[in-house]
Amino acid sequence: MAVSPQTTRTQVGIVGGGPAGLLLSHLLSKQGIANVVVELRDHETIKNTHRAGILEQQAVKTLVDSGVDGRVLTDGDEHEGIDLRFNGESHPLNFPDLVDATVTLYAQNQVFVDLAEARKRDGGDVRYESEVTDVVDLQTDTPKIRYRDVSEGADPTVVHEVQCDILVGADGSRSFCRRAVGQAEGHRDFRIEYPFAWFGILTEAPKSAPELIYANSPHGFALISQRSETVQRMYFQCNPSENVEDWSDDRIWSELQRRVDGPDAFQLKTGPIFDKSVLGFRSFVREPMSHGSMFLVGDAAHTVPPTGAKGLNLAFADVTVLFEALDSFYSTGSRELLDGYAETALKRVWKAQSFSYWMTSMLHTRPDADPFETKRALGELENITSTRFGQQYLAESYTGWPHS
Ligand SMILES: Cc1cc2nc3c(=O)[nH]c(=O)nc-3n(C[C@H](O)[C@H](O)[C@H](O)COP(=O)(O)OP(=O)(O)OC[C@H]3O[C@@H](n4cnc5c(N)ncnc54)[C@H](O)[C@@H]3O)c2cc1C
Repeated sequence: MAVSPQTTRTQVGIVGGGPAGLLLSHLLSKQGIANVVVELRDHETIKNTHRAGILEQQAVKTLVDSGVDGRVLTDGDEHEGIDLRFNGESHPLNFPDLVDATVTLYAQNQVFVDLAEARKRDGGDVRYESEVTDVVDLQTDTPKIRYRDVSEGADPTVVHEVQCDILVGADGSRSFCRRAVGQAEGHRDFRIEYPFAWFGILTEAPKSAPELIYANSPHGFALISQRSETVQRMYFQCNPSENVEDWSDDRIWSELQRRVDGPDAFQLKTGPIFDKSVLGFRSFVREPMSHGSMFLVGDAAHTVPPTGAKGLNLAFADVTVLFEALDSFYSTGSRELLDGYAETALKRVWKAQSFSYWMTSMLHTRPDADPFETKRALGELENITSTRFGQQYLAESYTGWPHS
């Protein structure tokens, strides 16, 4: 292959500038470890993509302690609990009382804005609009990222190359890096699909309740979430093939309302809907999360259903473990922590998989569920909410386990 005319040499090459890739880049730079981030999309597109909203206490601390702008503390909305609603009744859980912890509602696109700004402020090398087309020499000490510049006016036929010591795949659930390894010997994918999806809306409306409501109803699951004082995020369980065009605002509001209806006459606060989407999901883990000199972090290695609000938090936890291993590698020359990265990270990954699967199964109704299964899920919810140990289990998992 012809040598690229534009080759960069760095210590850590990172594919993907989502929250995982940018946080790792930020932490490495603070320790003086050179790195380059190669990101497919432009800054504006990522900034305007609505995804996660709940940050665990540890994720907030990681951002603030590492010197990212403290907007998460001033603009983020600290939440002290959730409301589990079933049989038409509310069951509030108070996290500070149960486990001395809280979570913070702060949209993922704002996390991205803060991290991107920190990289810019500190002179970070983040190459937006750059599509990775190859990752090679992964079993050597000089793996390489090849990419093309897809920005307007650039020549997309020119191949650029980043040579590094360590290559990190932080390129999300459809990960090019993961697929490049394929099913090499010793690699295994674990996955399950769900027979339902989430219909998500953004609406200009006041908050319907002080805390998020997770509702199990005879008509299926609903999540009454929030964005700000004037914009709210809500979801209801739907068929994965649902077409948003078939849903008028009135139809959406009556579907959401009937999923939270109850003897307390609780009423959602409504308003114009300005965004509608259908979100499919699955549970997925790639093992191991490394291959030679390449390490996977975040959604590139695993995805969880959104019910447990774990995806972004798990990505940050991976990054923390990998950062410590890289720091040790560059300061002592020892690969011990790097070699143990996958095993360490996977322990938390499987805990989060278990919690997310459990929340999803308990709160949703399978289209083929028999009456026994429906009643059993209600029994489980009663179990969880009626004992302090049950409430504590949910609260501890939701607010997050320590990072190490
Ligand atoms: C609707 C929704 C709600 C969610 N709610 C929550 C929540 O409340 N709490 C929570 O913790 N998680 C939540 N999640 C999950 C969370 O959004 C993800 O887990 C998180 O984005 C993972 O971050 P990441 O950096 O690993 O991947 P991503 O954010 O997907 O970033 C990967 C980046 O890699 C880039 N990329 C991909 N391919 C290439 C390529 N070939 N070349 C260069 N770059 C490439 C992409 O453009 C992307 O910017 C939610 C997700 C969705 C969809």
